[in-house]
Amino acid sequence: MIRPPPELSLPFDLDYIAVVPFIKQFSIVCLQFPEGLLQHSTFIARYLSEVTNVECIVLGDVAYGSCNIADIYAHSLGAEGLVHYGHNPLVSKTVIPTLYIPCKYKDDQETVNMEAFSRLVQTKFSPADRIAILTTAQHSSALKALLPQLSEQSMYPRLFMPPNHPLPDGEFLGCTCPCLSGETDPVTAIVCYVDGRFQTDSAIIANPTIPVFRFDPQFHQLTHETIDLPKYARFRRSLVGKSRKQKRIGIVFSTLGRQGHSETFRSLVTVVRRWCKIHPDCSFVEAALDEITSDGLNAVSADRPTVWIIVGCPRLGLDWGTSLNSNFFVITPHEALLAFNDDSLDIPDDLIQHDDLNGDIVDFSHSFDSLNAESSEPIPQPLIPFIPAINNWNCGGCGNPRVQRDNGSCKVTFCFQDGDRSVDIEEICH
Ligand code: SF4
Repeated sequence: MIRPPPELSLPFDLDYIAVVPFIKQFSIVCLQFPEGLLQHSTFIARYLSEVTNVECIVLGDVAYGSCNIADIYAHSLGAEGLVHYGHNPLVSKTVIPTLYIPCKYKDDQETVNMEAFSRLVQTKFSPADRIAILTTAQHSSALKALLPQLSEQSMYPRLFMPPNHPLPDGEFLGCTCPCLSGETDPVTAIVCYVDGRFQTDSAIIANPTIPVFRFDPQFHQLTHETIDLPKYARFRRSLVGKSRKQKRIGIVFSTLGRQGHSETFRSLVTVVRRWCKIHPDCSFVEAALDEITSDGLNAVSADRPTVWIIVGCPRLGLDWGTSLNSNFFVITPHEALLAFNDDSLDIPDDLIQHDDLNGDIVDFSHSFDSLNAESSEPIPQPLIPFIPAINNWNCGGCGNPRVQRDNGSCKVTFCFQDGDRSVDIEEICH
């Protein structure tokens, strides 16, 4: 029987039963923790070392997301295995064996939460309603156990956890959410069972026509969450239009874990290089940073790009908008493709109201905060491509496109709200 270290009394299950035999296969392992667990990391590492007689190295950088897998870094330290706490697998291949421990809440804690969740969902929705439940790794297994019980009771709406490959059914991330608008049996509403608002934003963006609610497991509240999507899409469109007017363009690759995707980076370099050939007054720089910050971007280039394309977490661009720095603004790979590779999209000049980078159409320090309001206005069709593509991991959520190689040619396909867009990238195949 493996007992947890007595010093630690956490609300999460650290699954020692899985971790201990995994670690015992190796002589050195690295341990990676999310922010909330990092302060306990040395306790956990010491305990695991004692029980297994294996050297356990704490990786001291916070693992912010499922994409922050430090397998390459751990391998370079001589580790033969990696334990990643806090998430389920998203990255399909790692250079050393990696065990994911989702840190699910302990049963007694979740039982109380689930009772509140069941009651609120039953009060809010009717039995005829079809409700998609989305959640994170911490709550997923408790919800999976609860849903079949509720489905058998006729007074509950029809609840289901939609597939979202490669994540387990019903799980979503800030960049990766299933699109449920086209379901044959229409989805009445989406309920996000999450601790914060971050992931809920992705559900709203990926499903502009479905009402999205959030169940807060801490305060036991069910709230209707909104973003003014037409306003949001207009703002993103203004940034795409503004990008076309910049003379110095930067493309930055995030080396944080597996966040950046090299094919996305290479395809965007090709696209921007082509743009600069057609527009000889434009130039571009390529850079790589582990953590993309305003200071980091300013430091990497004396050439000072005024627009940076971030090949990394799309939420860096979407959440910060123009607030990172007054000298430049940041856009996502999808927006870069619209700006520099898609002449069919007309962006009238009057949408780009200001020449200076400080004053955008929507002036805010955090895009989602100030757009957290419902709009009665339906989203006009021409704005649809400018709703960020928060689809799924394979289609581009984290900048991870589909890549097809055929007889020396290479096609990279990005998935947008209004369909796919492809780039032929001959140069990167040689
Ligand atoms: S890309 Fe961003 S939102 Fe997606 S898993 Fe990584 S940190 Fe989370």
